[in-house]
Amino acid sequence: MIDNELILKPGRDRSLLRKHPWIFSGAVSKVIGDPEPGSTILIRSAEGKALASAAYSPKSNIQARIWSWDISEEINAQYLNNKLRIAIDSRRIMLNILNDSTNAYRIIFSESDELPGIIADRYDNWLVVQLLTSGAEFWKDEICASLMELTGINNIYERSDVDVRRLEDLNERKGLISGIEPPDLIEISENGNKFLVDIKNGQKTGFYLDQRDNRKKIILYAKNRSILNCFSYTGGFTVYALNAKAKEVTSIDSSSEALQIAKSNLVVNGLDLQKAQWIENDVFTQLRRFRDEGRQFDLIILDPPKFAPTISQVPKAARGYKDINLLAFKLLKPEGILFTFSCSGGISMELFQKIVADAALDAGAHVKVIEKLHQAADHPIALNFPESEYLKGLICQK
Ligand code: SAH
Repeated sequence: MIDNELILKPGRDRSLLRKHPWIFSGAVSKVIGDPEPGSTILIRSAEGKALASAAYSPKSNIQARIWSWDISEEINAQYLNNKLRIAIDSRRIMLNILNDSTNAYRIIFSESDELPGIIADRYDNWLVVQLLTSGAEFWKDEICASLMELTGINNIYERSDVDVRRLEDLNERKGLISGIEPPDLIEISENGNKFLVDIKNGQKTGFYLDQRDNRKKIILYAKNRSILNCFSYTGGFTVYALNAKAKEVTSIDSSSEALQIAKSNLVVNGLDLQKAQWIENDVFTQLRRFRDEGRQFDLIILDPPKFAPTISQVPKAARGYKDINLLAFKLLKPEGILFTFSCSGGISMELFQKIVADAALDAGAHVKVIEKLHQAADHPIALNFPESEYLKGLICQK
């Protein structure tokens, strides 16, 4: 029995009937009762039909996120434990984990796993959690207890130091939740490549796990090639390329901490340091410098941060993507390969392809797309939640 209710405006149940899990403030007619942030409320249509149970986020533009479409189901520790178990079990198939291809992967991906606001990544013997919403915050203890029980891992570190929490009136927070303090760097392995990960201070939860499958694609193209890895972070693509016998790899990133770890990553893989060049600079500036110097590469990777975190930033982001892609086409040798990505949710694959096409046109290059890329399987796309498809990539040939 849920005490508090949220009543929708007439006609605003349409997206819910298609199982979209968000209720925007503009769709809300009224809230009955006095629900505390994160507590469970019953969602009703304007006609009074009970539709779902949801977590209440009074301060956010997204006022409620659906937990369950079955209103007879009580949202409690047992309910969450069951959903968490389903998500964790599904990774065994997604990743063929039994083959030991990696010991670092996302076990919980928010709305895609019907667990809005909850992210959990496993790095070897550590779990890193991010609780992004009032609902996730409300059930923090139950979620962590279940994660420990279901994975058998007792070390949990929290990285809820993300600014989206402010939209929910939640403070940023990070630190140890359970177990022992993690070392400064944890070694993980991914498709035979080793990486050091800083789960306490690194970007995201420490590593861009979503690019795993796309890093693997580099192996096909790297041998004897001279490669430029832009926005390299801790050298994910760099390590794969050098392990796959690249001639040389130049990596650019603006973060000195990331480049420091990237250099150590070469050492743990026993790679030849002479084949790597590191440039701490803004990619936009550095690509112009290379253009002016007449530098050329066989293969270029562009994996920028999210240029458009919200829809309103899409036009500016589009100019940014076009700029770096145009420069990349100029720096590519004939028949050269470009791996180009966008992780902006507001930019669809179709729009991204148009932007890259405009860049090719302006660069005077005839470019073919030879493969389209997406986020890895442990970051699944829920069909009822298209927003979960955020990472798009193209492998292009000049
Ligand atoms: N490809 C990487 C992930 C890249 S994440 C991997 O596989 O692990 C994006 C990176 O871009 C971050 O490391 C960030 O520090 C860097 N970055 C952001 N803005 C930048 C800029 N203007 N110039 C250079 N690097 C930038």
